[in-house]
Amino acid sequence: MSSVLVYHTISAPAEPLPGDIDISPEAFARQVDWLARWRSVAPLVQTLYSTRRRQVAITFDDGFRDNLTVALPLLEEYSLPATVFVTVGFIGNEGYLTRDELLELSQSSLITIGAHGFWHRHFNLLSSDEARQELIEARTMLEEITGKKVDLMAWPYGECDQRLESLAAEAGYHASWSVWKGNNAAHCRWRVPLGRRDNMARFILKASGVYEMTEARLHRRRDRRGTHASGVPAVPTPPVCSNTLLARSRMD
Ligand SMILES: [Zn+2]
Repeated sequence: MSSVLVYHTISAPAEPLPGDIDISPEAFARQVDWLARWRSVAPLVQTLYSTRRRQVAITFDDGFRDNLTVALPLLEEYSLPATVFVTVGFIGNEGYLTRDELLELSQSSLITIGAHGFWHRHFNLLSSDEARQELIEARTMLEEITGKKVDLMAWPYGECDQRLESLAAEAGYHASWSVWKGNNAAHCRWRVPLGRRDNMARFILKASGVYEMTEARLHRRRDRRGTHASGVPAVPTPPVCSNTLLARSRMD
């Protein structure tokens, strides 16, 4: 079975970012080196069709500038492909890719650009009309900037359910990814989140399927309990955003 890894920012801020979303360039370099040696790193879309053992895909969420300046040179060193899911509303903000940088990143033969919502909202709290609009506008804008087709998507906060899956398909997306939420179907595929807490031992375990069997299951069980205990769906923690960096309760 293949593992899809999700990174956010490859940087080392003095204070950890909320949600364990930062990972230092040194740690990332060690992980990339390990992946190049011990795993088959495939373009994300290939994981939809192939269940080769030891197959891994690399993804980044949100569209941080360091994906271009720090991650890409390392990926190039090893010729490893990756997909960057960009939140359109963050483009040009401090710490995030500008339009020109996004274009430059998209021109790398190793990089696929995907969408990550327009405003990084909790899609499960949007009406179908609002969700549809976000999905279509994000895609259209990214296609305009990159001049390439954009038909892969990652849900902000990993929020997805059957209604949203149908909307994503209707909006022309080929496939969509969550983190641990949803059912691992075509528009709600699971990924493995990585961050500052993941030392090399933890990274190897997580990249080898352990996250799927342990932490992800725990999250899903807690989520179900949250739903059943109150009789209403568990409401996610609202997003806390600053001008520069996105904050959240968990890396979802
Ligand atoms: Zn995100």
